[in-house]
Amino acid sequence: MRVVIAGAGLAGLSCAKYLVDKGHIPIVLEARDVLGGKIAAWKDEDGDWYETGLHIFFGAYPNMLQLFKELDIEDRLQWKSHSMIFNQPSEPGTYSRFDFPDIPAPANGVSAILSNNDMLSWNEKILFGLGLVPAMLRGQKYLDKCDTKSWTDWLKEHNIPERVNDEVFIAMSKALNFIGPDEISSTVLLTALNRFLQEKNGSKMAFLDGAPPERLCQPMVDYITARGGEVHLNSPLRQINLNEDSTVKSFTIASLNENEKKEITAEAYVSAMPVDLFKLIIPNQWKGIDAFSKLDGLNGVPVINIHLWFDKKLTDIDHLLFSRSPLLSVYADMSITCKEYEDPNRSMLELVFAPAKDWINRSDQDIVDATMEELKKLFPTHFMGDDKTNLRKYKVVKTPRSVYKAVPGCQEFRPSQKSPIKNFFLAGDYTMQKYLASMEGAVLSGKLCAESINKEYSKIPENVS
Ligand SMILES: Cc1cc2nc3c(=O)[nH]c(=O)nc-3n(C[C@H](O)[C@H](O)[C@H](O)COP(=O)(O)OP(=O)(O)OC[C@H]3O[C@@H](n4cnc5c(N)ncnc54)[C@H](O)[C@@H]3O)c2cc1C
Repeated sequence: MRVVIAGAGLAGLSCAKYLVDKGHIPIVLEARDVLGGKIAAWKDEDGDWYETGLHIFFGAYPNMLQLFKELDIEDRLQWKSHSMIFNQPSEPGTYSRFDFPDIPAPANGVSAILSNNDMLSWNEKILFGLGLVPAMLRGQKYLDKCDTKSWTDWLKEHNIPERVNDEVFIAMSKALNFIGPDEISSTVLLTALNRFLQEKNGSKMAFLDGAPPERLCQPMVDYITARGGEVHLNSPLRQINLNEDSTVKSFTIASLNENEKKEITAEAYVSAMPVDLFKLIIPNQWKGIDAFSKLDGLNGVPVINIHLWFDKKLTDIDHLLFSRSPLLSVYADMSITCKEYEDPNRSMLELVFAPAKDWINRSDQDIVDATMEELKKLFPTHFMGDDKTNLRKYKVVKTPRSVYKAVPGCQEFRPSQKSPIKNFFLAGDYTMQKYLASMEGAVLSGKLCAESINKEYSKIPENVS
């Protein structure tokens, strides 16, 4: 059966991968000239990669890890020590670590928290631990119920000192959704904590060994095309054409030359586009349908990814770092953490700049200048004196609407992969699945979408025994 999928991000490619596994023929149409959507990357004039986002894979990503296994590329994940490392603003240039020992969960998480004495006092640790108990014991239903309040409100309600937020959760919240704890839904933090504390390797982190379009998306494309599917770049979906009964008749696709449009037909159709762009092409006849009108409640959050190439090494830490800077979120020295970007003598920092609301329209130079000021606090000895480290070049990638902003109340707006339209389906990290807006969520949404299509079209007609 032919299925046309608009969007070659992780969700669209995952949907196509699981459709070919079931014997279907997916045709993936990607608007841009690069695979990957939010994991897209490009080479600059010197051949150095720059990316849409600094991407971390977690042990708590079962569908992503299964996908790596199925593609036979597991060796491309570079696992780091089981730790979380935070900069200490009160002691510039120093770090505070949560190290998870090699013992079963949740004991390894509890040990990591209890043995860190830099960030939280014993009283704060105890109050936080007690507050978390219901979240750990009451399962997914409780996590979903918490979507009515922000993380800060949840902490207050559970008598957890505000300092716990300042020390740990501003950084975690910015890392998870590029916004602060006053804005983020408590469901997001509780879901992450739940997975990190309940699964032994849940919070263990890996970096991909190179640029995601080549090292992850291309193997997916090779897998799909080797089994009869197709993936086309430069093929934006412009219009969804309907039959009289509001089912999909065809997709109108533009080519590089916008005047050349063509209609593509199939038995089933999928949007694996980001929610903000999908909303713009929803046909008028569908606009009153609850599942589509609710999408107005989902809006992409701005974020900026910065790449700074230096003439010397700034750090030897082979890990993700939580900056705890007001402007920055997480960062890593990619010349150490990522094999393809390796440089033994010079650092390349990739940094996530968030919240980016007030910066997204500023110039790249302004953003880099502000980042450099923050870096002077993180690396106080490197940017002064005769032997100071110099910035060689930079790249700034702005995403004005990235993953949906996970504010309280969003969960109920997230649609199922099976839409109310019989031959139309949705994939994307914003669709309902339990991994929220993440690479794991995108892969799972594509898998669920493929399952839904397969189920719908393999139904035995009722009059056949
Ligand atoms: C800065 C940043 C850092 C991140 N860090 C992490 C991380 O560390 N860990 C993690 O798990 N997740 C992270 N994420 C989130 C993760 O990247 C996303 O959740 C995931 O990649 C989304 O995949 P998707 O397929 O749902 O959407 P997208 O990647 O947005 O894919 C949608 C695709 O549809 C295409 N498209 C749009 N319009 C059309 C059209 N008209 N016709 C055809 N195609 C169209 C787009 O070009 C795109 O390729 C990060 C995101 C960002 C921005």
